[in-house]
Amino acid sequence: MDKRLNRATDNTFTSENCSVSSASKLESASEDVNNPMKIRKCVRKYDPEYINIGFTAIDVSNEPRPQCVICFEILSNQSMKPSLLNRHLSTKHSTLKNTPKDYFVRKLSEMKSTKKIISSFSGCTY
Ligand SMILES: [Zn+2]
Repeated sequence: MDKRLNRATDNTFTSENCSVSSASKLESASEDVNNPMKIRKCVRKYDPEYINIGFTAIDVSNEPRPQCVICFEILSNQSMKPSLLNRHLSTKHSTLKNTPKDYFVRKLSEMKSTKKIISSFSGCTY
């Protein structure tokens, strides 16, 4: 429930932050309400610096999403900002808060090699 509320707040924040074309607003206001995809125009991009706080990027339905290299949790694209990524690190991995980047880079390469193993196994099922 809480997550849903947060997402709604995030969307409002986004439409304020990004320049949503006023043309679509003029066309039909009710259409925008029925189509949440229109509101989510702003796609946040991954910054290589985010590995400093333990995050890599993964593509989910054509948009980059931040993925934690420690617990592999994939956050929403709207969470792709240092403050929210830092919050994940400090709440879920408080012991790793001041860990040097090297640690996360190593975790990332571990994660990638694990992924390769998983995909080579699951590849047969398709
Ligand atoms: Zn995590």
